[in-house]
Formats: sequence, structure tokens, C-alpha cells
Amino acid sequence: MPSPNIVAAFSQTYAEAREKFLAAAETRRLTVESHVHPSARGVDGEALAVDVAVFGPRDATSLLCLMSGTHGVEGFCGSGAQIALLEDPAIDAAVTQSGVAILFYHALNPYGFSFCARTNEDNIDMNRNFRDFSRAPPRNAAYAEVHDFIVPAIWPPTPENEARIGAYIAAHGQLALQAAITGGQCDRPDGLFYGGNKPAWSNGIFRDVLRRHAASRRRLAWIDFHTGLGPYGHAEKIHSGPNDAAMMVRAKAWWGIDVTSFHDGSSTSAPLTGVNFEAPLAECPGAECTGIALEYGTVSFAEALQALRADQWLRNHPDANATTRATIKRQSRDAFYCDAVDWKGMVYGQARAAVLQALQALTTGHR
Ligand SMILES: [Zn+2]
Repeated sequence: MPSPNIVAAFSQTYAEAREKFLAAAETRRLTVESHVHPSARGVDGEALAVDVAVFGPRDATSLLCLMSGTHGVEGFCGSGAQIALLEDPAIDAAVTQSGVAILFYHALNPYGFSFCARTNEDNIDMNRNFRDFSRAPPRNAAYAEVHDFIVPAIWPPTPENEARIGAYIAAHGQLALQAAITGGQCDRPDGLFYGGNKPAWSNGIFRDVLRRHAASRRRLAWIDFHTGLGPYGHAEKIHSGPNDAAMMVRAKAWWGIDVTSFHDGSSTSAPLTGVNFEAPLAECPGAECTGIALEYGTVSFAEALQALRADQWLRNHPDANATTRATIKRQSRDAFYCDAVDWKGMVYGQARAAVLQALQALTTGHR
């Protein structure tokens, strides 16, 4: 099998990405499990599905789970990486040699992927929705303070509105604004980084797949693909797990000392609750778990924030005209997916290294 055509592994739409993923899995003769959304449809009326394929021995004691599209539009990145990995002879050889299986989890949030949004069909941020709903939601008082001007009533925003954001940054700093917005909130369904008040459809599917494919493994690892923070094309390796020292030590031993964590302030990510790593921890209690998110830089924080604000405004104004809608959707996609040859090469190079490192670590039992 020739080396993968990296650029061709990336797509322009969710429908194209899904088709390519299914074709790549078929070429590998993998069985694909498709979980089609029961009611929501895509931007062009297409079916929305989470597609799951396992590559490698069915009875492998170690499993590496690769997730794309937790944040919808960020799926352009993770899907491209997953498809290139399926086509890569070096990955094929490493799977055979290691005896480790890889679970490809394509489009955790297919609605957001199709509509170029971070959130799902209910405006839920799927990386804030994996919390214990029997308890009161965590309070994010700082978000309540910024919601009214971060999600403005009119778009484009007025100079007065922009000035309020400038004043907040001048008073509290950009990091405080980032933490207030991205930390997650459960009070405003019409706001940014909304965690929801019940488990979303994608939450239930993810847990079900983990119970059936991952719970019996002795060792479980995951790499969750994200975009939007950090320098262009750089993949920050963020510890994806609770504040657990042994898990963090393993992540650094496998992927290098540059693994960061939002628990100790070393990451560009603010502290979060309801993150998707709660699902494997809860559903696979017998497995030794180790995971990272790969967070790829795209545009500046200010540009990404502007795109998120615009898209939230659009969600709150479904009657917006077609031109405005198209402009905002393009802005949203561009903020989380750099449709450029150099960026795709950077994405794949770092994804490939991280996957090979994980396979190596799962083979040797390296702690
Ligand atoms: Zn993300």
C-alpha cells in the first residue's frame, strides 16, 4: 500500500468526510458500526451518524481509541487524521506488530460537524456534557457576567459592544475572559460552551460503544482531536483525564514531558468540567486508562472567539438571511479548520507520531 495522500484525506464537508472514512475502512476490510441520529439531519439533508470501526485484533488486551469531532466543526481535522491513519502502511505495520487494536470513533458530534458549529443539535458543547446530572450543575459566575456582551443582540456587533470586551480584558486580562467563556456553563442554552442539563444523544452513543468495545480491555488509551487553541499547526498534547498523578506520569512517559494539563495551569486550556474522558473512566472501570487531547492551533484567540460569537448569534437568530448565514458559517469553519496544505501536513505528522508512540507504549507495557 502506498503512503497516504495526506491532503486528500481531508474534506470540505461532513458528508464528504463520512464518505471518505467509510471508504478507507472498507479498503482495510473493517466492519463499520454506524449510529444514525434518530431525528436530526445535516446541512444538506444528509444522515448524521457516528461511525465506529475497530482496526486490529478483536481480542486485543490493549485498545487505543481515536476520537474526532467532539466539537463538531473541529472534526475536519480529526477526520482527516483518522482517514490518513487508516491508509498509512506504517500504522498498519505497527498495529500488526503491537497486537494493539485501534478504535476509530468518527464524528462524535456529527450535527456540529455538518453545520460547522462547535456544539450539537441542542447547542450543547459535547466536551462539557459528560458530568453527573444527579448533582447540581457547577456554577460559572464569571460567564453570567460576560454573556450579555459576548453573545450580542445584533450582528455584526456595535463598536460599543466591542468596547465592552476590550474593557473586560483591560480589567481582568484575556486569560480571565477565556476562562469565563470556555470553562463551560449550564444556565444559558442560548450561550457559548453550554453543557446541557441532560446527557446528549452523542453522550449515550459514546458510552454504549465504550461498554461494548473497550470495557473488557486491560489497558485503554485515547487521543481526542481538537482545534482552535495555540500556534498555527502546533499540536498541544493536553492530559485528558482527572487530576490523577499516576495517569499524568504515564501520559508524559508515553508522549513526552511536553504533555500539559489544565489541572496545574500548564495548558492553554482553561479548567473544564464535564469533559468526554469521564465516559471511558466510568464505563471501563477495570481498565488502566491513559489519554490526551491533541489541540491544534488555527487562528488567533480573538479570531476564534469572534467566529464563535457570530455562530452563537446565528443560532439565536435562525431567520438570518442566506448571505449572512453563509458568511458566518464560512468564518466558523475557517476558525477551526485551516484548509491549507502545510497545516494538514502538520496535523498529520503530529497525529501519526502520537499514535505510534501510544502503540509502542501499549505494546511494551511502559509506565
Ligand atoms: Zn475542541
